[in-house]
Amino acid sequence: MNQHNRILFAGDPHGNFKPLIAAVHKYQPEAVILLGDYDLEMPLESCLEEIVGITEIWWIAGNHDFETPGKYNNLFNSAFSDKDLHLKVTEIAGLRVVGLSGIFLGRVWYPPQQPKWLGKQHYLHHQSANIKHSGMSLKYKSAIWHDEFEALKALKADILVSHEAPGSHRHGFNVIGELAAAMGVTNIFHGHLHENYATTIKNNIKVYGVADSAVADLLGNTLSE
Ligand SMILES: [Zn+2]
Repeated sequence: MNQHNRILFAGDPHGNFKPLIAAVHKYQPEAVILLGDYDLEMPLESCLEEIVGITEIWWIAGNHDFETPGKYNNLFNSAFSDKDLHLKVTEIAGLRVVGLSGIFLGRVWYPPQQPKWLGKQHYLHHQSANIKHSGMSLKYKSAIWHDEFEALKALKADILVSHEAPGSHRHGFNVIGELAAAMGVTNIFHGHLHENYATTIKNNIKVYGVADSAVADLLGNTLSE
């Protein structure tokens, strides 16, 4: 096996898992990491049936995965519910991978602006008894929360996988590059913006955007089927 194919990264499938499945059959990676936005009409394991058991399957969530209770449950209550990389460092194929799900939301935190709420507890404390009881809406669950984001900076990792882009992209956020630098990350892979590209940002961190339904290897090469 090619060393650079031992982990493959899948850009926003939006319901189309065929390119990922084809790439797994062709390159036989140790693991695949999905970068969010699945639009799941059935549980994740049903969409990936063909590759279950032949490679490790890991994921972060994108904004679309919080759009409806159905899409949310098909991911967060799937057979792969424990393969969520969000807010932790996981060793995958010998590399330390940290995940950041969700998006920046104006009503929560939209860098470089100051956060509206410091964290989920702060937000919930100021809500009606009704919301306190029923919990946060899916919209708020899709947000990147400032306190959780800052806490990650104490950890170390090799690769950051995020749905949002760092400042390398015109629609990206510099704070993501700052997070990567604080964690000692050397490579960032992100989805969301439906664009394949590779570039280098401050601290010599390599950034790879992975387009919708595209598959990239550890060097950021887009793999054809
Ligand atoms: Zn997205």
